[in-house]
Amino acid sequence: MNHENSRELYDRALSVLPGGVNSSVRASMPYPFFVEDGDGAHVVDADGNRYLDYVMGYGPLLYGHDLPDPVEAAIQSHASAGPMYGAPTEVEVDLAEFVTRHVPSVEMLRFVNSGTEATVSAVRLARAYTGRDKIVVMQGGYHGAQESTLVEGGPDGARPSSPGIPESFAEHTIPVPFNDTDTIADVFAEHGDDIAAVLTEPMLGNMGVVMPVDGFHESLRDLCDEYGSLLIFDEVITGFRVGGLGCAQSEFGITPDLTTLGKIVGGGFPVGAVGGRAEIVEHLTPGGDVFQSGTFSGHPVTMAAGLETLRYAAENDVYDHVNALGEQLRAGITDILEERAPEYTVVGTGSIFKTIFTREGRGGEGRCEAGCRQREDCPNYDACPKTGADVAAAETNRWERVFWQEMKDRGIFLTANQFEAQFVSYAHTEADVQRTLDAYQDAL
Ligand code: PMP
Repeated sequence: MNHENSRELYDRALSVLPGGVNSSVRASMPYPFFVEDGDGAHVVDADGNRYLDYVMGYGPLLYGHDLPDPVEAAIQSHASAGPMYGAPTEVEVDLAEFVTRHVPSVEMLRFVNSGTEATVSAVRLARAYTGRDKIVVMQGGYHGAQESTLVEGGPDGARPSSPGIPESFAEHTIPVPFNDTDTIADVFAEHGDDIAAVLTEPMLGNMGVVMPVDGFHESLRDLCDEYGSLLIFDEVITGFRVGGLGCAQSEFGITPDLTTLGKIVGGGFPVGAVGGRAEIVEHLTPGGDVFQSGTFSGHPVTMAAGLETLRYAAENDVYDHVNALGEQLRAGITDILEERAPEYTVVGTGSIFKTIFTREGRGGEGRCEAGCRQREDCPNYDACPKTGADVAAAETNRWERVFWQEMKDRGIFLTANQFEAQFVSYAHTEADVQRTLDAYQDAL
């Protein structure tokens, strides 16, 4: 494959963009390819190379790169009316009504411009509502590039995970292991009266994929109720992907107090949202006193793209299609690993999949069953990663420098970072899955 144009673009980019990119996960060794066009489930780079795409914009692109006609038409129509106004529009109300009708916990919501903004607002709202400062987060969880959650460490002390964040900010955050109810109960016993909220992804989507064990969310719900803390589900990745239009909370049967959304709810345009019980969300300004604002929030083009994306999903077999292909991919890769790399693990659910290159720390022998729901009756239950630490031992070097490159050379675009999830879109076909499995077989 020739990558000359991408290399030249990267050289130019390095002079004017730090690291040559506008989001750090887009960097890859030795340099990223620059995309010129999207075509169904494929992207085409600046040198004309075509790749079957499983990055899908890191999650927002439920339909791949060609939007269904009604979505495309709504975007064009709103864009040609003028980009935005700084005054409310009907389409914001339409999308808000759609979301509140489908997502169990959301009675009212505020749209913002990114998942990061959504979690910033959720944390501020939870602190204001409870009058408490501390936030419990999961080790290996990700909630965007924000000060309160970029932390590492454990229950005995968090520290910022990036320079530039004052140590004192991290004092209010308590990282705990995902799925470890005993540790979390101990944290509540010690700090419960100071805990504003537990903020968690329903399943870890930025650290491989780690599914909740049976009863984990129920325990979080009970602890939050007992101590008067809020439960916040960060559904930026899982929202309108896992569990269909009801999101992961409907799949897991747990109603959080607040929910953050992003990615799919904006149909491929910049978006975030924080929603939940009206009695809590109403505290946001201007009705309440918890400050929140944004020039571009509820942008009409984004709202139209999001609304038509979700309407189309409600009326077509979108989730059946992507989930079935996800299942086929996980099952197929599981079989290939059995033969070629039995120490690696296939994780994911629905339309999300990833192969974790771990040889240790998985808590047992054997492999995770494809699409396993952490059921204790699963013969490979012990082998499923349970915490962020279980996947932290993954061979990141082997993934990025060897496997990811090998797949790219075979025309398959996976996430370059070992821990980022991969997504199937409505544009993928069974033939694409077969081609992908052939590439896995070959590359592994
Ligand atoms: N929360 C989760 C669970 C995410 O996966 C992400 C981004 N991948 C964010 C928040 C941040 O969203 P954004 O990149 O839109 O700011």
